[in-house]
This record gives sequence, C-alpha cells and structure tokens, in this order.
Amino acid sequence: MQCSRVRTALSARLDGEQLPPGVTDGRLDAHLAACADCRRWSEQAARLRRLTSAAREAAEATDLSAPDDPALDGLLGRLRRDGAPGDGRQV
Ligand SMILES: [Zn+2]
Repeated sequence: MQCSRVRTALSARLDGEQLPPGVTDGRLDAHLAACADCRRWSEQAARLRRLTSAAREAAEATDLSAPDDPALDGLLGRLRRDGAPGDGRQV
C-alpha cells in the first residue's frame, strides 16, 4: 500500500471517520509496523490532533466565540468605524 493512501486512512481513523474503501485497520497497522516514516507521521498527526482538540476545548471554556467584554466591544466598534484600509473611505 502506498504511504499516501496509508496517511489518508490514518487521518480518517484519527478523526473517527470510516476508512477509505479497501483499507482495513489490519493493513494500516501492518504498514505502520513496516514503515518508520508513516509511524512517525502517525505519531505527529495524533499529537497535533490532541493539541487542536485541547485548544478548541480551551476556547469553548473561555467562550471566545461570544465576546461580552466591554473593552473588546469598544475595540471592535472602533475597528468598524475606522474601516478596513483601502476601502475607499469618504472625506
Ligand atoms: Zn509508509
């Protein structure tokens, strides 16, 4: 099995998605046992997955999606008033 197919399937497995057609857990593990490159890739992908899910949980815990901080509201309002650079502000 090609390394690229193995990595696509590994990434699906990490996401809890279905493996691509023709790929089984057994074949993936057999390839990992024989291919140090994919083993390393798989470890890095798993670590990255843990980091991003930890970051998402932290963001949800602090509720970054719905800012209700007055200072932040003021900043956002100022940004909107000033407009984006180069948007043809009227004089
Ligand atoms: Zn490989």
